[in-house]
Amino acid sequence: MNNDNYGKPQMEGIQYCIRCCIPATQELVKFDEMGICQACQSSEQKIHIDWVEKGNELKKILDDAKSRAGNNYDCIVPISGGKDSTFQLHVLTKIYGMKPLAVTFSHNWYSETGWYNLMNSLEKFNVDHIMFTPNRSLVNRIAKRSLEAIGDTCWHCHAGVGAFPLQVAVRFNIPLLIYGESIAESSGRSSYKNPLMDFNVDYFMKVSTKRNPKSMVCDYITEQDMRPFFFPTIEELEKAGVRLMHLGDYIFWDDERQMEFVRDHYDWKETEVEGTYKGYKSAECIMPGMHDYTNYLKRGYGRATYQASVDVRNGLLTREEGFELSKKYDSEIPESLDYYLKITGMTKEEFYNMMMDKRLPEIKDIELPVTIKTRKNKERIMPYPEQLVEKEKVKLNKEKSAE
Ligand SMILES: [Zn+2]
Repeated sequence: MNNDNYGKPQMEGIQYCIRCCIPATQELVKFDEMGICQACQSSEQKIHIDWVEKGNELKKILDDAKSRAGNNYDCIVPISGGKDSTFQLHVLTKIYGMKPLAVTFSHNWYSETGWYNLMNSLEKFNVDHIMFTPNRSLVNRIAKRSLEAIGDTCWHCHAGVGAFPLQVAVRFNIPLLIYGESIAESSGRSSYKNPLMDFNVDYFMKVSTKRNPKSMVCDYITEQDMRPFFFPTIEELEKAGVRLMHLGDYIFWDDERQMEFVRDHYDWKETEVEGTYKGYKSAECIMPGMHDYTNYLKRGYGRATYQASVDVRNGLLTREEGFELSKKYDSEIPESLDYYLKITGMTKEEFYNMMMDKRLPEIKDIELPVTIKTRKNKERIMPYPEQLVEKEKVKLNKEKSAE
C-alpha cells in the first residue's frame, strides 16, 4: 500500500464527516455547519440522556401493554435470529416478563449460523413463533428485479420485514411491535434529540409508498406474486391501534457489549459477514456481501465504512484506522456475487453495467477499485434450507446405490 494514502478516504473530492468515515453520498445524510454527521451528533447526545428515566418510561409502556393485552400476546417481536433480536427477547422476556409473539419474515437466504441462531433463540426463550417464507423461485426473480428497481439485491427482504409483522399485528390483534436498535443510532436519518417522527400511520404510509409492491410487477413478476409484501390498509392499522417502538430509544445501546452478552449467556454465534471485518451484524444471511457491494458501487462506501464509523464514534478506532478498514473491505468482490449471478441468470457484464447506471452522478468520474477476495468464506454461500436438502439427497443416493 502507498503510505501517502494511509488514513485517507477512498474518494477524493467528496465530503466526509470530520469525525467518522461517513461520506456525503450516504442516503439522507445530514452534516451540521461544522461538518459533523447526524449519527456522530447522536452518539454525543446518547451520553447525556438520562437512561434511568428512559428505563422507567419503558417499564410504564410495557406494563400498560400487558394490562391491555389480557389473555392475548403482550406484543410482537420481529426477529431474524440476529444478535439484536436475541437481545430483544432477553430484555422483554427475562427482564420485563412480557409474553411476546415472535414473528419472522424469512428472506429465505438463511446462513447455516443464522438458522442455528434463530432456532436456538426460540428454544432458549420459549416463545411462540410465526415465520413467513417466500418461495425460492419468487426470491430469485425479485432479486433480479430488485437490482434495476432500487440498485441493491434485497428488495424482498426490505419490504417483507416491514410488511409481515404488521400483517400479523392486524390479524392477531396485537397492537404493539417492539424493534431493537434506535433509528437514531447510526442510520443517519435522525438523532436522539431530533427523532424521525412518531411511528404512527403517517410513518407507515411513507414507508409503504417507498416499498410499493406494485412497482415491482414486470414481465416475470405478477401482482399476485407480490401478495406477501403489501402493508395492511391504513384503516386496518388504525383499527388495531398498531404502533411500533425501538428498545434502543429506552436502553443504552452498545452493539459490542450486547453481542458478547448474548454469546456468553445464550450461545449466540458469529460468522463471517462478507465486505466487513465484523461478524455479528446480518450474520443470519448469506447475501449481505451483495447488499453492501452494490452500495459500494453506487455510493462509494460499504459496510466496513459504516461499522468503522460506529467504532470511531465509540473510541475503538481512530478515523484513519477506520478509513484503512473501509478501503480494505468495501472494495472486495464478495463470493455471494457468484450465487447472485446463478439465481438471476445475469452475466458479470450485465451486473457491472447495471451498477454503473446506478452510480450517483457526483461520483461517476471517480475510480472505485475492486479487489479479489482470496480467502474462502467461512461458511458456504448457499441458503441453509438448500444445503439441508442437498445433504439428504447425497445420503439418499448413497443408500440407493448400496441396495
Ligand atoms: Zn460522523
